[in-house]
Amino acid sequence: MQIAPLDLRSQYAKIKGEIDVALRDVFDSQYFVLGPNVDKLEQELAQYLDVKYAIAVASGSDALLIALMALDIKPGDKVITTPFTFFATAGSITRLGAVPVFADIDPDTYNISPAQIERALKKHKKVKAIIPVHLYGQSADMSEIISIAQKHKIPVVEDACQSIGSVYALNGRERKAGTMTEIGTYSFYPTKNLGAWGDGGMITTDDESLAKLIKCLRVHGAENRYYHKYIGLNSRLDAIQAAVLRVKLNHLDQWNKERNAKAQIYNKLIEENDLQCVLALPTIKPGRNHIFHQYTLRTLQDVRNSLQEFLKKNGIGCEVYYPLPLHLQECFAYLGYKKGDMPVSEKAAESVLSLPMYPELTDEKQKYIVDKIREFYGNKPFCLG
Ligand SMILES: *Cc1c(COP(=O)(O)O)cnc(C)c1O
Repeated sequence: MQIAPLDLRSQYAKIKGEIDVALRDVFDSQYFVLGPNVDKLEQELAQYLDVKYAIAVASGSDALLIALMALDIKPGDKVITTPFTFFATAGSITRLGAVPVFADIDPDTYNISPAQIERALKKHKKVKAIIPVHLYGQSADMSEIISIAQKHKIPVVEDACQSIGSVYALNGRERKAGTMTEIGTYSFYPTKNLGAWGDGGMITTDDESLAKLIKCLRVHGAENRYYHKYIGLNSRLDAIQAAVLRVKLNHLDQWNKERNAKAQIYNKLIEENDLQCVLALPTIKPGRNHIFHQYTLRTLQDVRNSLQEFLKKNGIGCEVYYPLPLHLQECFAYLGYKKGDMPVSEKAAESVLSLPMYPELTDEKQKYIVDKIREFYGNKPFCLG
C-alpha cells in the first residue's frame, strides 16, 4: 500500500465540478490580479472568521512580513516568537532587520509557552511584538499571551497559517484562530487546510487604520496609483487563487471536522494496539478545538528516525515538522543561541512524527498505518507488561 502524507487529487475529484465552473469564469473575465474575485473572497473570509477586515496577499510569509511592517517594526527592534515553527515566522522578523527572541514551547501542545514569553520580556528591552504560532491546528494559550501583551503594551501578531477555522474560547466567547489580537496571518499554500492552487495568504484585523495601511503596503505603498505614501511591496493575490479558495471555503468546516474524526480514529487504533506507552498522542487543551493540520505523535523512546524510516519503507509518507528548531539554524547563528537553550523545542524536534492526514484518508489506510507502527515496535504488549 502507498499512502501519501496528503492527497490533493482525491480532494479535487470531489469538488471538480464547482472548481471548473469558477475557473472558467476567471478565464472569461480575463481579470487576473486582485479584482472582483479577490474582493469577494476577502468579504467571505472576514464573515467566516468574524473579523472586520481580511486582506489577501501573495503568501503566508508575506502576510507575516506586511503585518510587522504595518506595526512599524524597525531594525534593532526585538520580536518574541517560538523556535518550533516553519522558518517564515522568524524570517519575517529578520527581513526587517529586527531581532527574533525565541521563547521555548509547551511540551504537550508544542505551542509557545506564556511563562517563557514572560521570561524573555524580563531579559530583553525593546520588544515590539509577539508572534505566537497556532501550530498543527490548535491555538496557542491566547488568554495568557494576551494578558501578558496587554500588561507590557506590546502588539500580538498571530501566525494562524496552520489553523484556519480552529476555535478558542477567549473570555467565554468562541473566537477563530488569527482574530484574537491586533493582526492575524494565514497561508493558502496548497498543503494547508484551506489551500489554493499556488501561493496565497491573508491578513486579518479589526483596526480600520491598520487595514488601510496593509492594503496600501501590498501595492507598493500607493494609496492612489503611482503616488507612493509608503515603501511597500508587490504582494497581491490573483483571481485564479481567489476563485479556488472561494469554492474550498464552503467546505472548510466539514473538512476540518473530518480531519478531527481521522485523528480520533488514530488515537483509538493506537490505544487498541497498546502503543500509548511508547507514543504520546496529540493533546487538546480545554477551551479550544484542534483541526489537525497535522496529526503529530511523539516517540517516548529515542527511535523516531528509525520508526520514520520503517514506515517510509512500507509506503507510508510521514514527515517531521520540524527537524531543527529555528534558534539552531545556520542562518541564525549570528543570534548567538546554542544547543540546550531551548530544551523543550530541541526534544520535540528529535521525537515528533506526523502521520498522513487529510479528509479523504480511509479507515483501511489508517489501520494499515497503525499496524505497521505496531510491527515496528515488535508486536509486544507494552502497557500491560
Ligand atoms: C506555511 C506557513 C507559513 C508560510 O506560509 P507560505 O504561504 O508558505 O509563505 C508561515 N508560518 C507557518 C506556521 C506556516 O505553517
